[in-house]
Formats: sequence, C-alpha cells, structure tokens
Amino acid sequence: MENKKLSIIVSVYNEQEVLRHFHSEMTKVLDGMNVDHELIYVNDGSSDFSQSILADLAKDQPTVKVINFSRNFGHEAAMVAGIDNSTGDFVVCIDADLEKPPAEVIRMYQAYLDGNEVVNMVYSNNKIRGAVRQYMTKLYYKFLNKISRIQFVESSSDFFGISRTVADILKESYRERKRYIRGFIQSMGFRSISLEYIPNERYAGTSKYNFKALLNLAIVAITNFSDKPLRLGFYLAAFCFFLAGIAGMITIKDLIIGNGAMILDFAMLMFLFIFSLMFFFLGILGIYLGDIQQECKGNPIYHIKDTYNF
Ligand code: UDP
Repeated sequence: MENKKLSIIVSVYNEQEVLRHFHSEMTKVLDGMNVDHELIYVNDGSSDFSQSILADLAKDQPTVKVINFSRNFGHEAAMVAGIDNSTGDFVVCIDADLEKPPAEVIRMYQAYLDGNEVVNMVYSNNKIRGAVRQYMTKLYYKFLNKISRIQFVESSSDFFGISRTVADILKESYRERKRYIRGFIQSMGFRSISLEYIPNERYAGTSKYNFKALLNLAIVAITNFSDKPLRLGFYLAAFCFFLAGIAGMITIKDLIIGNGAMILDFAMLMFLFIFSLMFFFLGILGIYLGDIQQECKGNPIYHIKDTYNF
C-alpha cells in the first residue's frame, strides 16, 4: 500500500465496556495495513471509566492520542475536535461501539488512494435498526433532499473518510456551532464515493442517540441546508386567507338564515386553527433565530480539558 498517513478519529462517550475491545480490533487492522498512522480518541466528557482506560491505552504508545473534553459536547463536536487536531493525509471518523467494522478502514483507504477525497460508508443491511426506524430514516432523507440545496447520501452515517484538503477546509471554514458534518462535506463537492458495509450489533453498552437527539440532529440538518421552512409562512398566510374567505361566506349564509349557534362554533374552530398555524410558524422562526443568536455569540464548539501524546 502507498504510504499516506492515516488518522483515525474515535468519539467516546461512556464506552468503558467496549473501549479495550475496540482498541485491539482497530490496532490489528492498522498493524496489518502497515501505514503511517495516528489513532485519536476524543473523550466527550465521559462519566464512567473511559478516561482512565484511554490514559492506559495511550501509555507508551505515541501513535495513540487522546483529547479529553471538559464536559459532554456531543458526537459532532467530538468529531470536529478530532479532525481539527489530526495530521493525516486521510482522516477517518468511526464510532467506538464496533457497529461500524474497523476492518472497513482498509477499503476506505484504498478508495482514497484511488483518488476520492470523500469516502461515505453506507449501510447495506441494517437489520439491527428495526423496520420502523429504517422506514423513518428513508422518509427523512426523502424530505431532506426535497427541501435542501444539496443532495444527501441516503443511509450514510457518521462513518466516513476525508482527505487532508477536505479536513483543512472543515477546520478553517465550517465553524458553525450547530453542525451537520456530513452535510458540510457533501456540500463542498469534492470527488466522493459511497461504499456499502454491513453494520454489526453494538458490542456492548447502549446507544446514546435517543429519539430526542436524533430529532435535534434532523432539525439542525434541515435548518442548516434549507430556508424553505422560513418561507412556509407565506403559504400558511395564503391558506388562512382562503379559509377566512370560506368562513366569511358561511357566516353570511348563516346570518341570512339566522343560524347563530353555528356561526359561533365555526368562528371558534377557525380561531383555533389559525392560531395553531401561527404558533407553528413562530416555532420555525424561533429555531432559525436561536441559530443566529448562537452563531453571533461565536462560542467555541468544544473545550479541551487535557490531552495525551499531542
Ligand atoms: N458519542 C459521543 N458523544 C455523545 C454521544 C455519543 O462522542 O454525546 C459517541 C459514542 O461513544 C459512539 C458514537 O458517538 O462512539 C456514536 O454514538 P452511539 O453509538 O450512541 O450512536 P448510534 O451509533 O447508536 O446511533
């Protein structure tokens, strides 16, 4: 294999049950590849024994590097910190839970050597996710691709590889607090390839992405890459105007035939309906305004408490 330096970035949040096993699997793969490399663990404020396990793994192994956050900043922030501090020609982000097989890094590296700047790993057979979640994911991507300025790769995950050029652009130009790294990478337009992989069951521990976390990520993706929801207000206004016209006509008719009770019921229904639409749109405005406020503040994406082997 051509010797281009490889950086592996692993986000870690309370993964004490899997860390050692992941490390031995990953190290086996890297030793087999025989290329210059660094293995960067980003400990995202774990409250279990992950930090001491990582300190132990990094002892006497200069290629194993550790970044400890001051608190939990989230998976996306952990990937950003890893990318910011990586030095490889090809940078791979992978989870610590072994759902994404470390052996796939060999194919990813080869795809990079073949001239691809972005390597997206796409799960081909995701039985472990369950039918409902798979169906919701499909719907979500359909919706996202319909309203976004760019096209997202369906079934992609936070398992990808990027060239040094892409990593440097991410580091220098994409510093938003609300982030969706996959979206940023895809929007850049560099030569990319999607490789299929079969995910494993999580080796141990539990998923940290509950429904609320997934919903938040979905909202970030939509508001980052589309302003269509903001324009929804115009359509809602037209729709309410139309309904008000019908309500007006029915009211006039009821007045003529003298049906007073019906006028009140109908007026109440319209009142509630129009208010619900207004609050819905205010909610959308709130999301975008909140994002603007966060970006204006310009707070750092993460805080590093300490590092090993940097
Ligand atoms: N993770 C993280 N910070 C968080 C949540 C998760 O660094 O706040 C890490 C976690 O340790 C794992 C990866 O991100 O290595 C993916 O998380 P998880 O496995 O819980 O998500 P899933 O793959 O189940 O959607």
